[in-house]
Amino acid sequence: MTDKFDSIVVGAGPAGIAAAYTMAKAGLSVLVLEKGEKPGAKNMFGGVIFRHHTEKFAPEFWKMAPIERHVVEYQYWFLSKQSHVLLSHRNQEFNGRYNAFTVHRAKFDPWFARLAEDAGATIINRTTADDVLKENGKVVGVTTERGNVLADVVVAADGVNSMLAKQAGLREETPATAAVLAVKEVIALPKQKIEDRFNLGPDEGIAALLVGFGFGMHAGFMYTNRDTLSVGVGFGMRDLDQSKQRPNDLFERFKAHPSIAPLIKDGELKEYSAHLIPEGGYNYVSNVSAAGMLVTGDAAMLVNAINWEGTNLAMTSGRLAAETVIEAKKKHDFSERSLHTYRQRLENSFVLQDLKKYRDVPKFFETNPHFFTEYPETLNELFYMWHVVDDETKATHIKKMKEYAFKRRSKLGALKDAYHLWRLFS
Ligand SMILES: Cc1cc2nc3c(=O)[nH]c(=O)nc-3n(C[C@H](O)[C@H](O)[C@H](O)COP(=O)(O)OP(=O)(O)OC[C@H]3O[C@@H](n4cnc5c(N)ncnc54)[C@H](O)[C@@H]3O)c2cc1C
Repeated sequence: MTDKFDSIVVGAGPAGIAAAYTMAKAGLSVLVLEKGEKPGAKNMFGGVIFRHHTEKFAPEFWKMAPIERHVVEYQYWFLSKQSHVLLSHRNQEFNGRYNAFTVHRAKFDPWFARLAEDAGATIINRTTADDVLKENGKVVGVTTERGNVLADVVVAADGVNSMLAKQAGLREETPATAAVLAVKEVIALPKQKIEDRFNLGPDEGIAALLVGFGFGMHAGFMYTNRDTLSVGVGFGMRDLDQSKQRPNDLFERFKAHPSIAPLIKDGELKEYSAHLIPEGGYNYVSNVSAAGMLVTGDAAMLVNAINWEGTNLAMTSGRLAAETVIEAKKKHDFSERSLHTYRQRLENSFVLQDLKKYRDVPKFFETNPHFFTEYPETLNELFYMWHVVDDETKATHIKKMKEYAFKRRSKLGALKDAYHLWRLFS
């Protein structure tokens, strides 16, 4: 391969395909390199894709895309060792106007990639971009084991470990404080059983976040697919290191929790996988442009962990990168200065505005782990005390509940927490 393209996109995930589709549709010659045997082959997530951002590429895509279920209910579980408190929001609006869909990436990504191919992009699978090619300090292409490929602009969409962004000097290794290691199982169950267990209609689904479970600062997730469940846990890398425990052992304990076990009972394990999530937020966003190169999606650490959003930031950054390349081509200017407008586009969009809004949140939770440990436990114990019926008066119960709560966290501490949360999110 010695061809030259307007753009080479490395990685056929949501970011890369969004970029390739947008540039190809505008008439640019686009080559996508994907190291997997097909798009999605190496990709895993929770999870859901979002209607709003996916529709920008294919209106009413759910009528043709391989989606599993549309989400009608969001659940927040606060676990203690043997109980849970569940906060849940179900809304019929989500049946009328879809908001998010559970998908399997191995099915969704190939479908999404076909949109880019139909728009005119060429996708070559089983091909790893090994390094960036530079000429006079400008990126001019990539090297692969099949030869070098040249382009005016290389769009790095190669995911959380982005070799290309590192080779171009745009970012460092993902620091342990900014990465979460997620392990996930796909568990098969009959469709009807899933609907009975989660109280769902035929195409309806739930998305659940679970915190607590008595062993530190980790968060679990659970999504209903058509006839499988996606269940997993994310571990802060530093926290995991300090706990000296193996992620798989912690995951087994999570699945054995008395509130979780009945939901996955008799399920057949279909798939086990692990993946990093770049959850560091705004302070860890990489440099996103250099002469001849742009960085998108997870490669640039664009994940909003607070709202469980990644694919929409990936698709949007891919689209904005593409628009930057289209404009640069009109000016025949692929310099650092010309491509730097991509950063401004990200800053003007929800992508960096949301991450900026939450910029202090990851650090806050890292230094205040009691939100994941003491608070879920306290909440569970308070609900327990509230419901137990015995000879004591309700006044005594309430007095004991107050004593318990303020023994776990002082009045001043609780007030400070409330104040900080208010400041962080308002
Ligand atoms: C457990 C988990 C749960 C998640 N849940 C959700 C969720 O519910 N909703 C949501 O919106 N987001 C979720 N995310 C985040 C979301 O998956 C990512 O933000 C999103 O996939 C990023 O897209 P991307 O295109 O940037 O990268 P990726 O999807 O990682 O794609 C990168 C692509 O590049 C390819 N590649 C890598 N290196 C090379 C190379 N050198 N040469 C060629 N190809 C290469 C890979 O094979 C891959 O196809 C979750 C993530 C995880 C891990």
